[in-house]
Amino acid sequence: MSQPYDRVFNFSAGPCTLPVEVLEEARDDLLNYKGAGMSVMEMSHRSKVYEGILAEAEADFRKLLKIPENYKVLFLGGGATLQFSMVPICFLRGGNADYVLTGSWGAKAAEAARLEGCVNVVFDGKPNNFREAPDFGSLKFDPKAAYVHFTSNETIQGVEFPGDPSAPTPLVCDMSSDILSRPVDISKYALIYAGAQKNMGPAGVAVIVIRDDMIAKVPGNMHPMLDYRLQAENGSMYNTPPCFNIYMCGLVYKYLLKNGGLNASRERAAAKAKILYDAIDGNGGFFNGHAAKDCRSVMNVTFTLPDEELTKTFVKLTEERKLDGLKGHRSVGGIRASIYNAFPEEGCRLLASTMAEFAKAHA
Ligand code: PMP
Repeated sequence: MSQPYDRVFNFSAGPCTLPVEVLEEARDDLLNYKGAGMSVMEMSHRSKVYEGILAEAEADFRKLLKIPENYKVLFLGGGATLQFSMVPICFLRGGNADYVLTGSWGAKAAEAARLEGCVNVVFDGKPNNFREAPDFGSLKFDPKAAYVHFTSNETIQGVEFPGDPSAPTPLVCDMSSDILSRPVDISKYALIYAGAQKNMGPAGVAVIVIRDDMIAKVPGNMHPMLDYRLQAENGSMYNTPPCFNIYMCGLVYKYLLKNGGLNASRERAAAKAKILYDAIDGNGGFFNGHAAKDCRSVMNVTFTLPDEELTKTFVKLTEERKLDGLKGHRSVGGIRASIYNAFPEEGCRLLASTMAEFAKAHA
């Protein structure tokens, strides 16, 4: 099964595979962007051409997610991890916030928030090795909390909330690993952030969707780079933004719009995930899915084999077949197949048939 440019099937959790069409367009634009006489990498961020690139990226992102007028969209450096701190620095400040922990990234976000105030963990999946996503209706939120923070898809454990939950206080979501894989009811959220390197573009830039009333809550004496208000007032250009990364995200947004928008993304993601979950469930118990069935991620499929030796042998076999990056995160072990938007379905089929063959040979 040959891939264009002799590429592998890249199951990496991020940075990860991007659409070939987008990479080709970036390649074609690399030395002279649409007659500007230079690369986007070499272009002043204050130039008319670059202003157009940024404005189009934002407009297309808004179109994809149907973002209402009362939200700002920011493209900021520092990745999603900076948002772990920026959110509590702006909104916690000695107060308290509720955190829902369904995996390692949510736990990291809570750790950063503890430096700024009181973190109330309303759900902790850790004692059960992060396998489930709770029903928000069953949790005891503090009506006086500054916000509720959760992670819609936990990349390491492969635990994903099945939809957009509701909370009594401003809802803040780390959507790094499932953004643009499904339509989202933006009106439920006060703030969404996402690192780009799964479904959008190269690592380093994070996209933030923030409601105007949250911006109004940012205190006046804020460090400039950590100030959502200042960043919004300057249209993500308080300093030099990650220009090339934003341009790449813009190409991906156009690609998604051209390919049916987020409903189509969801259908493709569900079809790919089904191929792998069927292989997990359908090989006589040889494979064991990590996440509970009602919160299985359609982006990161996690499972284990009977023992460490078999896992190593399986990974070796997949590598021989150009199925790359399947070794699971050390905290979960086993296998993690990250199948973001740009990952081709035929890669899932090849992995599933390899799983069936391996189970038959080693059962
Ligand atoms: N949140 C989630 C859910 C992630 O998957 C990741 C990265 N894998 C991060 C946050 C951290 O992102 P970054 O490396 O861009 O800071």
